Amino acid sequence: MRKFRTAALAGVATAALALTACGGGGELSGDDAAEQPTAEASATFEAGTKMAAINEAGTIKIGTKFDQPGFGLANLQNVPEGFDVDVAEYIAAKLGVPADGITWVPSPSAQREDLIVNGDVDMVVATYTINDARKERITFAGPYYVAGQQIMVAADNTTITGPESLKANPDQKICSVTGSTPAENIREYLADPSQLVEFAGYSDCAAQLESGQVAAVTTDNVILTGLVANSDGAFKLVGEQFTEEPYGIGITKGDTAFCEFINTTLQEMSEDGSYEEAWNATAGQYEGTEVPTLPAADPCV
Ligand code: GLU
Repeated sequence: MRKFRTAALAGVATAALALTACGGGGELSGDDAAEQPTAEASATFEAGTKMAAINEAGTIKIGTKFDQPGFGLANLQNVPEGFDVDVAEYIAAKLGVPADGITWVPSPSAQREDLIVNGDVDMVVATYTINDARKERITFAGPYYVAGQQIMVAADNTTITGPESLKANPDQKICSVTGSTPAENIREYLADPSQLVEFAGYSDCAAQLESGQVAAVTTDNVILTGLVANSDGAFKLVGEQFTEEPYGIGITKGDTAFCEFINTTLQEMSEDGSYEEAWNATAGQYEGTEVPTLPAADPCV
């Protein structure tokens, strides 16, 4: 029996429970124990813009993950912490919204576009890959980071060494998350569609791997790195990354002004050192990660 349940993983379990308790779409308010950016008291925005509305309200609803160590993981107060959270807090501060004006909305992969389209959130910062299918329904600011898909297995698994091993081992199931790009990307490597098992969140996949129900988990390298770091030696990464996953910030489709504001703000975050600081305080804590450089923004259209 592998020893697995570390304090940090207990946090994953808590997040999963909290998600169950509020049906996966519950809203939570609170602030993060990490250092907070100071809200810009004097920020002013053109009337009628999303920025002006948020600034005037002094509150913002932000969608993020609650079960992904390093990017968005709920703490014991059920408030998320991680790189996505810090990026989102920086943007909120530039809009004049302090941390206690943020309502964090758990945003499982398959629900992100709906949350934006339905107006349940003002923006989604949630390891959210920019792609054309999603752009049909929403607009992305960014990218602010570029991840890549990889595979995680149990530490004693020597059979799965990368995506190419899957076809030859049809009995070894692989877990990913419904509505995620990795769940789609992995299909071409499968012996059969039933080799892929899908769950609502990555903590579910980690639990399946821990109990031996699946042999592997696939998603972005940085998400897996956090799960490996919290597995107390039970999990490992195998193979190289085999996709590019540029992370964007999802907003209402066609809101070019808000998109441009976010891109300018990301640039400021990089220039004043907050981007690197946020990375080092969160995902950068895990072995094997490197401080990223802010990628050039895509044009806002
Ligand atoms: N970046 C990928 C995606 O947006 C995987 C991570 C996730 O599911 O949040 O689908």
